[in-house]
Amino acid sequence: MVAPALLDIFRSSGALLEGHFKLTSGLHSNTYFQCAKVLQYPEYLTEICKNIVSAFSGLDINTVISPAVGGIVVGTEVGRQLGVKTIFAERKDGKMVLRRGFALSPDEKVLVVEDVITTGGSVAEVIEVANRSGAGVLGVGSVVDRSNGTVKLAEKQFSLLTLEVKNYEPDNCPLCRENLPLDAPGSRTL
Ligand code: ZN
Repeated sequence: MVAPALLDIFRSSGALLEGHFKLTSGLHSNTYFQCAKVLQYPEYLTEICKNIVSAFSGLDINTVISPAVGGIVVGTEVGRQLGVKTIFAERKDGKMVLRRGFALSPDEKVLVVEDVITTGGSVAEVIEVANRSGAGVLGVGSVVDRSNGTVKLAEKQFSLLTLEVKNYEPDNCPLCRENLPLDAPGSRTL
């Protein structure tokens, strides 16, 4: 579903590594993914967001909203390419809310944009924020869906990259049993 050239962007920037990894959580995984590593390069950010924008072409979007912090960079670039108002929601006392004078009105047609969808919890809360204000949510766009398409948040949902990430307890890891060398990229100084 993602063009090979785009997959290369994720690999060459070190955002996507495949192998045998020790995550900061202590779990072992077959995939290491750090979205910020690809979004830090403006040419990659532009290209990735161009794909998200084109997935929602023909829709009358007039506002982009993202969950802080991860969604802000990609949301801002998607909003810039669409030429529409772009805001973000953030947590206050554990609850996703609009702050900083941001507001939504019932006449707004909203695209929710996130960097990585894992459980979809933050995006679901942003949809709830929009619904409470009466704004219509037209779709959900993300760079990566780590749920391999199992998390459904909106009728129109697009992820540039769909990953099936497998995590294992260290004492029950098939990659350890294969004696694959263990890497810890999160702590590596590049
Ligand atoms: Zn292992």
